[in-house]
Amino acid sequence: MLPEPRSAAAQSPLRLVLDTEALNANWRALKALSGGAKAGAAVKADAYGLGVRAVVPALREAGCEDFFVAHWIEVAPVAALVPATSIAVLHGPLTSADAQFARASGVRPVINSLAQARLWIESGGGPCDFMVDTGINRLGVPMSELGDETIASLDIDVLHSHLACADEDSPMNPLQLARWKEARNHVRHGRASLANSAGIVLGTEYHGDLTRPGLSLYGGVPRGELVGVIRQVARPMAAVMQVRQIESGESVGYNATFTARNLMRIGTVAIGYADGYLRCWSDRGTMFAGGKQVPVIGRVSMDMTMVDLTAVPAVGEGDWLEIAYDLPEASRVSGLSQYELLTSLGQRFSR
Ligand SMILES: *Cc1c(COP(=O)(O)O)cnc(C)c1O
Repeated sequence: MLPEPRSAAAQSPLRLVLDTEALNANWRALKALSGGAKAGAAVKADAYGLGVRAVVPALREAGCEDFFVAHWIEVAPVAALVPATSIAVLHGPLTSADAQFARASGVRPVINSLAQARLWIESGGGPCDFMVDTGINRLGVPMSELGDETIASLDIDVLHSHLACADEDSPMNPLQLARWKEARNHVRHGRASLANSAGIVLGTEYHGDLTRPGLSLYGGVPRGELVGVIRQVARPMAAVMQVRQIESGESVGYNATFTARNLMRIGTVAIGYADGYLRCWSDRGTMFAGGKQVPVIGRVSMDMTMVDLTAVPAVGEGDWLEIAYDLPEASRVSGLSQYELLTSLGQRFSR
């Protein structure tokens, strides 16, 4: 057996700096834009990759009282931070074990089908949420099944639907709005909810009693109305591990996609595609050294990325660079969606 290293905890050369003040401000801005409705928060996928342990307490402090996860395994880490009754599970129960778990933990399942409604009632029932599918054709009870008597016996807190095209000006938006309104007349419920981040700025009619922003809490800007309102929350940082000089004509990285045209000073940075800094950033990404921009050169590899440090002679080994990761801009440059940019950030960051 190897001896256990005693007090020395390994340090990551990767950090994800979370601006909790921007997170707080984003939630409050989305709450204000939600008018008379309350604003909840989608914290599925470990708060879009940023980490529920930091995100959920910050949102709770801002005033958030409704949290949404997708999977049952996401409940425990969130329930350690907020009351179970403030959590709903969007996927609903797939098995009777899921229904039992919901009952035991006190969280609300979102019922998405007649089969889930029966599973929930057979397990003893109790408060739940309900998702009606108004056109996304993904999860949720179709409009044609709303008259089923199983639904009448559910104890529904929030009646949800979800918009397919809220980030565009699409005829789908008013169509889904009309169907959601109709569903509200047919299904007995406490509160009603339709809008994700983008849906919030479609207008008052879309607000109901509760909105469910996710992306924009974390700095995403899905519609023009949110430009200048939403602030960047996540700032990935990585350390320079090695600096070298290369001559004109020498190449950098796998497949030698970059060739120096003059004497250059290049840095090898401890971030790669295994950290979610995907290969689409090759020869295209930017990092910040102090206030100065330095370009990514050559292919991003699994654990490292090279940058041109010629213009910043003071930056050396051990220094930290901030990765340019303003979500709308990073999405435009990389071709990745703002959602993918957040949720692909890997496990090696210290958060
Ligand atoms: C993920 C999700 C949200 C949040 O959507 P954003 O576009 O990230 O704001 C809201 N509602 C449901 C049902 C979701 O699955």
